[in-house]
Amino acid sequence: MTVIEAPQQRSAWLSAQPVALIRENARTRSITLQVPGWPGHRPGQHLDLRLTAEDGYQAARSYSIASVARGDLITITVERVENGEVSPYLVDELQVGDRLDVRGPIGGHFVWTAEQGGPVLLVAGGSGVVPLMSMVRHRFEIGSDIPITLLYSLRAPQDLIYGAELAQRHAAADGLQVLLTYTREVPAQWRGYRRRIDRAMLAEAMGPAGPEGHAFVCGSAPFVEAVAEPLIQLGYPVERVKTERFGPSGERT
Ligand SMILES: Cc1cc2nc3c(=O)[nH]c(=O)nc-3n(C[C@H](O)[C@H](O)[C@H](O)COP(=O)(O)OP(=O)(O)OC[C@H]3O[C@@H](n4cnc5c(N)ncnc54)[C@H](O)[C@@H]3O)c2cc1C
Repeated sequence: MTVIEAPQQRSAWLSAQPVALIRENARTRSITLQVPGWPGHRPGQHLDLRLTAEDGYQAARSYSIASVARGDLITITVERVENGEVSPYLVDELQVGDRLDVRGPIGGHFVWTAEQGGPVLLVAGGSGVVPLMSMVRHRFEIGSDIPITLLYSLRAPQDLIYGAELAQRHAAADGLQVLLTYTREVPAQWRGYRRRIDRAMLAEAMGPAGPEGHAFVCGSAPFVEAVAEPLIQLGYPVERVKTERFGPSGERT
């Protein structure tokens, strides 16, 4: 018997209202949205966000969800792409009380919950840290002790997102380890990594456990390619290396 699966249905657009705005760095802002009717989500999923101009012109883009599921509140974190259509507005102009639309959650592949076990290696390039932060927050929220290492690559200290929260969670020394690598400019007295992620760095991040558990890689398409391949060479089975690429997304109507 041939089973023909129905194509995945996109959920309906829901009205959303920003209720809190947090500046993460000069180019990045976290936006907490209140979305009545939000069905909940799992760590790693994303949503579509749609803006409508006064003349009816609409533009939609994908954004990962940074927060754990908590009622009808969702937090996304947006980095400004210069000359972009949507992200400069979200980072610099959107205000509490404005209206926009979202639909989701989207994605069932790039998801981690504690039931899947560990250890877990999270590898982020720039704003690719956003869905991985949802996984880190989920671990904390449910009091899990599953070992997680977050290896986070950024160009310069001023690009860091979630800096205070990551430092606090790392300092708790409860099995969550955060490793930063700076590729262009390092903070004063920096003693950590100062190069692009390579095979040797990934092997160190895995630690004695080696290629056990799950690996999640998120960032630009070139970043994801540059990390996923060495992870597989180091012994991770392909099906346990999950990737998400933050390429251009969206639709204009
Ligand atoms: C599954 C998924 C999840 C995403 N999650 C996030 C997230 O959590 N946070 C976040 O900030 N972004 C995220 N993005 C990227 C986001 O969807 C938009 O592409 C981004 O905000 C740029 O939109 P824009 O309208 O400002 O730029 P556009 O007007 O679409 O593009 C302007 C120019 O920039 C280029 N460009 C567009 N997007 C990117 C990009 N991401 N990197 C480099 N160049 C780009 C375009 O090719 C074009 O030349 C995600 C993308 C996907 C596919």
